[in-house]
Amino acid sequence: MSRHKLPKTVTTIIAAYGPAAIPNNTEYVGKKVYGRQGSQFENVAGEITGTSLCRLEGCGGTRLHVKWPDGQRTYPCGKGCTVKADGSLRIR
Ligand SMILES: [Zn+2]
Repeated sequence: MSRHKLPKTVTTIIAAYGPAAIPNNTEYVGKKVYGRQGSQFENVAGEITGTSLCRLEGCGGTRLHVKWPDGQRTYPCGKGCTVKADGSLRIR
């Protein structure tokens, strides 16, 4: 059997089952995330405490682990966020 690069779908499946093997993306960790514009959370800032790969098939984005001031945690995809002028993010 010749050596081939693993097809992308296989690497995506491996990533989905071993998220702990993927280091936090330092580009995101520690940054603030604001709620959707026009929503009641527009001016509420959460903090990115870690990242993993987005599990949506074929997305390849970075899943953000966000801790909100009320202690709740959500996991939006980085591809669903816009970057504000100050470097913080906003959920679209
Ligand atoms: Zn995604």
